[in-house]
Amino acid sequence: MNMPKSLFLVIFGASGDLTRRKLMPSLVKIFFQKRSPENFAIIGTARSVYDDESYRGYLRQYLQTSPSLSEEERGCIEDFLKIVYYQTIDPAECSSYLMLDAKIESLSTEYDNSGNLLFYLATPPSLYEIIPECLSKSGILKKKGLKRIIVEKPFGYDLKSAKKLNSIYSKYFKEEDIYRIDHFLGKETVQNIMVTRFGSTIYEPIWNRNYIDYVEITAVENMGIENRGGYYDHAGALRDMVQNHLMQLLALTAMEPPARFDKDSFRNEVIKVYQSISDFSESYIKDNIIRGQYTESETSKGYRQEKGIGADSRTDTYIAMCLYIDNWRWEGVPFFIRTGKNMPTKVTEIVVHFKPAPLKMFKLRDEHRSGEKLILRIQPNEGIVQRVAMKSPGSGFFLGNMEMEFSYEKSRYNTGDAYVRLIEDSIAGDPTLFTRQDAVEQSWEMFDKILEYWDKHPDTHLYGYPAGTWGPKEADELIAKVGAEWTNPCKNLTNSNLYCEL
Ligand code: NDP
Repeated sequence: MNMPKSLFLVIFGASGDLTRRKLMPSLVKIFFQKRSPENFAIIGTARSVYDDESYRGYLRQYLQTSPSLSEEERGCIEDFLKIVYYQTIDPAECSSYLMLDAKIESLSTEYDNSGNLLFYLATPPSLYEIIPECLSKSGILKKKGLKRIIVEKPFGYDLKSAKKLNSIYSKYFKEEDIYRIDHFLGKETVQNIMVTRFGSTIYEPIWNRNYIDYVEITAVENMGIENRGGYYDHAGALRDMVQNHLMQLLALTAMEPPARFDKDSFRNEVIKVYQSISDFSESYIKDNIIRGQYTESETSKGYRQEKGIGADSRTDTYIAMCLYIDNWRWEGVPFFIRTGKNMPTKVTEIVVHFKPAPLKMFKLRDEHRSGEKLILRIQPNEGIVQRVAMKSPGSGFFLGNMEMEFSYEKSRYNTGDAYVRLIEDSIAGDPTLFTRQDAVEQSWEMFDKILEYWDKHPDTHLYGYPAGTWGPKEADELIAKVGAEWTNPCKNLTNSNLYCEL
């Protein structure tokens, strides 16, 4: 770790939604907890015209009503704003970086900072190539001191564009100074998957094909695309969710224990999981991937009626797929992955289903579902549910199930915010929880095959599902091939009731 004594965080896209909703509230928290460097300042940039004072005024209105800040944190907003500055520039215009350079220079004496700079790219992805080029041309990267860069998702649109981005970034930054954000990895509950597996003796001995029947990884939302039609229609669910977030969850669920918890050991194990995923051949893609798109329902419009979406759009808003990991631990265990927009509820969780006991001594009571399983709930209502077999009370010996729950909200632990953790790590120089170049490319290499197949076979089914339902019935048929069914949580999950299944 390399926490500098002085640092400027330069945010590109400082007038945007991500900056006001996530980055600035996170920075207030870091400021409140005094976890930033001694001489720390934030310089916002965008095309919108502000000076330091008017930008502070713009931020103040959002911060004062930010739902993620506590009363005490709100109390330090005025002091926080004193370290926030703004420079209007057009990030696509290299000549305007001279003004940014001048701003950095003008603050360098006051903050005793001769060139320690952390750049945050919170702009449309179309600017991800030009910004590092302009930073270089302007001479800003030549200043002495550390230079790090954080890049938001999406990192690339396919393998070719991801490789191109990587080659540009590696020209100007060392790999350990490139922080490709996947905010899922900043979530406490996602990091806890490793502790559940490797910090305890309960699960790891049975975390393999001998005891695990199948695994579900689900990340669904109960909203449509809102106003993101322009972006979403070019991306679709596979690019937006599966290639990045769901692959990270898969890696944490399936990885071997890293030798140590550090940036190299951990990320080496992630890449090994990706390399072990069985080949996405054409016949595999045809039989194991279900694409869906939400259609009009009584309560919601269909995808094709959304603003900015064509009446003939074939973009996927739902994906269900089954994949296998070809290694000693997971041979033969299906991993079912699912994501979708406009589903009945918003939930992200991993469900690990254990094999039934070999001795069928007890019969199942009709009303009870079978199967022991562990649910790792990532959001909302973060926690863990372990369903175990128990005797169904009453006469005879019948098998039932009960759920043991742990809820972060009800515990003494605060789950914190993913962006706070990730910004802190990038300030401190720890890229462990960020995606490494080889993992981005390996993941795109797999998903390019699927995208290419769909391009080559434009008649591939795109199944409609009414908005507000659990997706196409073909996805139920996919999981039923191994005699299983999806775990569909109820709409009314609460912190006191983590387990509620339809
Ligand atoms: P916005 O559209 O709200 O903001 C984009 C920012 O970039 C604005 O500050 C805009 O300011 C600036 N900008 C500079 N040049 C251009 C240009 N040529 N065209 C458009 N805008 C420009 O986007 P978000 O803040 O929502 O997202 C920023 C990035 O973060 C995107 O890559 C997105 O995928 C990613 N992201 C966002 C999340 C979110 O919750 N919002 C979540 C995860 C990722 P100005 O017009 O003043 O120049």
